Amino acid sequence: MGMKITTGLCVAFICLFAAGAFARTPNLLKNGNFEHGMDTTAGEPVGWHTKIIGIIPIPEYMDPVRKKGRTGKYEFKCGCGHIWGNVRPWAYLYCPECGRLNVGLEDSGDLYDDNETCVKIGAGKTGRGLEYDLPVAIGNNEGVRVVSDLIKAEPGAGYEISFDTKASKSHVRLFVECFREETGDDLATRWVKTLPAKSNPLRQTVRLKRVFRKHIDAKTPTTWTHFSETFVAPDRYAFDWMYVSLYAYLPGEAAFDNVVLRKLTPAELAAHRSANPGPKDKRLR
Ligand SMILES: [Zn+2]
Repeated sequence: MGMKITTGLCVAFICLFAAGAFARTPNLLKNGNFEHGMDTTAGEPVGWHTKIIGIIPIPEYMDPVRKKGRTGKYEFKCGCGHIWGNVRPWAYLYCPECGRLNVGLEDSGDLYDDNETCVKIGAGKTGRGLEYDLPVAIGNNEGVRVVSDLIKAEPGAGYEISFDTKASKSHVRLFVECFREETGDDLATRWVKTLPAKSNPLRQTVRLKRVFRKHIDAKTPTTWTHFSETFVAPDRYAFDWMYVSLYAYLPGEAAFDNVVLRKLTPAELAAHRSANPGPKDKRLR
């Protein structure tokens, strides 16, 4: 009897181990190895976006001439100068005027208006890869950022992000930016319907609010180096959508290849959780 149970447990353990070791879940990124090269119509790498832009919030004043008496309201201005209006535009909405993708990150004067001129399909670690050339003016300011298509996430799931990179003088960071659908924002829900179709190709109906970010600081690896990390958002930061952002700054060069974002198997998720138990207090999870 005892023998049978032990054998059963052993079989179960071997199965779990085999699933973890051999069953790789599929890459959620399109063209993560850049072998498909450029989408010549879009002028961007297939599955990725280089023509991006940020926004600047402009505070409204009771007396706009003397800039006195803030109303607490803002107007949101695209880097190209287009005024979006009083609703903050969010990730994967495209500016109606310049047609660039709003990345939905921190507000800053860093507007990425020359971003695509610094990126090309070149040599990867294997086959093709993504090459960045950062001139002084861009390297010392906004840097260069390439973002993936927006990817549907499963709230509560775990993910693994892995990639190869190398750099000369530039500093490399990878982010997975994670967003939640904010269903309670009625103003935004009404506003997004008023946008021209070309500004909302994904036909979003609710605001995407950034709630979580996975960050890998790859620094400046002078030869091709592989990075791989798993992540699970704490329950209170569960997210619905995500995108990968390949970022480099400081004047120099950087390259990326074999970017893989994949969902963890149940066995891998259990392993991640036991290695990262998190806070004991449930309210902090
Ligand atoms: Zn614009």
